[in-house]
Amino acid sequence: MKPIDFPLYLITDRTQTAGRPLLDVLRAALAGGVRAVQLRDKDLPDGEYVELARALRVLTREFGALLFINRRVDVALAVGADGVHLGAASAPVAEVRRRCGRAMLIGYSSHGLAEARQAVRDGADFITFGPVFATPSKAAYGEPLGCEVLQRAVEALPVPVFALGGVKPENLPAVRKAGCSHIALISAVSAAPDPCRATRELLANLGNPLPTAVHHELRINSYGHYLRRRFDCRISKVNVDAGFTCPNRDGSKGTGGCIYCNNVSFSPKDTQPVIPLEEQLSAGMAYHRHRLGSEKFIVYFQKYTNTYASADVLADLYRRALAHPDVIGISVGTRPDSLTDGALELLTEIARDHYVCLELGLQSRDDAILARINRGHTVDDFCTAVKRAAGRNFDICAHLIHGFPGERREDFLKSADLIASLPIDSVKLHQLHAVEGTELAAMYRRGEFVPLTLEKYVAAAADFLERLPAHVTIQRLYGSAPLAICVAPRWGLKNNQMWFAVVNELRRRGTWQGYRVG
Ligand code: SF4
Repeated sequence: MKPIDFPLYLITDRTQTAGRPLLDVLRAALAGGVRAVQLRDKDLPDGEYVELARALRVLTREFGALLFINRRVDVALAVGADGVHLGAASAPVAEVRRRCGRAMLIGYSSHGLAEARQAVRDGADFITFGPVFATPSKAAYGEPLGCEVLQRAVEALPVPVFALGGVKPENLPAVRKAGCSHIALISAVSAAPDPCRATRELLANLGNPLPTAVHHELRINSYGHYLRRRFDCRISKVNVDAGFTCPNRDGSKGTGGCIYCNNVSFSPKDTQPVIPLEEQLSAGMAYHRHRLGSEKFIVYFQKYTNTYASADVLADLYRRALAHPDVIGISVGTRPDSLTDGALELLTEIARDHYVCLELGLQSRDDAILARINRGHTVDDFCTAVKRAAGRNFDICAHLIHGFPGERREDFLKSADLIASLPIDSVKLHQLHAVEGTELAAMYRRGEFVPLTLEKYVAAAADFLERLPAHVTIQRLYGSAPLAICVAPRWGLKNNQMWFAVVNELRRRGTWQGYRVG
């Protein structure tokens, strides 16, 4: 399905063209940058309507723009339109969605939030919402809703919301202030003396809605692109197992570990502590050089708790990793309650001439969940660790998991607010999955853990990204385990397949990372 990636939605009205032929006006608007047109003129006789729809199909194709037909699904199908635009007086959204499947985009005209919510639940891909301002063409719909109501709709709906009704260049700042970056209009373009110029000015005033940190194709601030921007070459992370253990296993913080923990699922098989660090590194670098053409490397101390040793032991391990000329830095995964002052000082010193990323496991922003999964630390421990690590010239990455038993989606989404409130540079997110040898696998077999469906996880990941500030880089959106030990869910995806599933969901919605950040 095509993405809703057009900020300006032009609706036709042949009576509002200042006496000029509608097709001439539309051609000028398309030349000015309109990328989606809705044929409305619903008072036309059937034959003329279909004829106009066909002409518009040809014209919009010429400019690579989308064509929507107001209400008439039969006409949309007959002329090969990209979508239909429905409303309260048209066929129900759910019925049209059933009839057309995902091949047809569906827009919906809504005059209130409850109505819009229902349309989205029924399958609408975007909403035109209004009238926001007073306008003669929408007088029949009552008093204008205003920008506060518009803002509530933008915040509440998981699809693009187009401000409709009386939108003009002079009130665009108020629309943007309401968090709305999509507009639908008629006369501001079609009645303008120069529709091409009017379109250009509106688009320029709307601004490029994607923040500069966000990759325009991916709609995400990906860590890979961040590294490329920062170091101007292709960089891969190479996992090593430095032989650490974990205080949540050896009894100093807890025993048994987190209920999902089986470190075999974390790492490639060649990273075992019996293999010297330098050999693990060589094998990992050779693999990434060959497979991805990587030029430089970040050594990732991943398995167990990689600050759980004396500062001397840590210094020896980290320095050995940094000794290779192609290694630009280290990434150190640890628990928030296992970060001694000595470890922090060591990382601070290394960060003076190398890249350093400190990866802290939060997993959930809910203390009750952290207790249930035997995590052995609290949200407050995490916040304290982040604050102690901040301002030391290294990146801080937070690890999160979605799908814990008893976790509500809206609570998970609040973790984006927590991340936004802290000096965190990067995030790793993955679905909760049970692997052999864990308490979670036993819970799954007893029916106490029901994994998320792939669709629910992808939707939640997209929701999460929309709430996450654009400056936070995304390192991971998926957790995988070897199929031999993966119990559930067994999606069998590769990392990049999940990545693109989430990217495609953002494209479908016409949103991006940070879209819902105020
Ligand atoms: S903190 Fe990490 S290594 Fe320790 S038990 Fe939990 S998941 Fe495993």
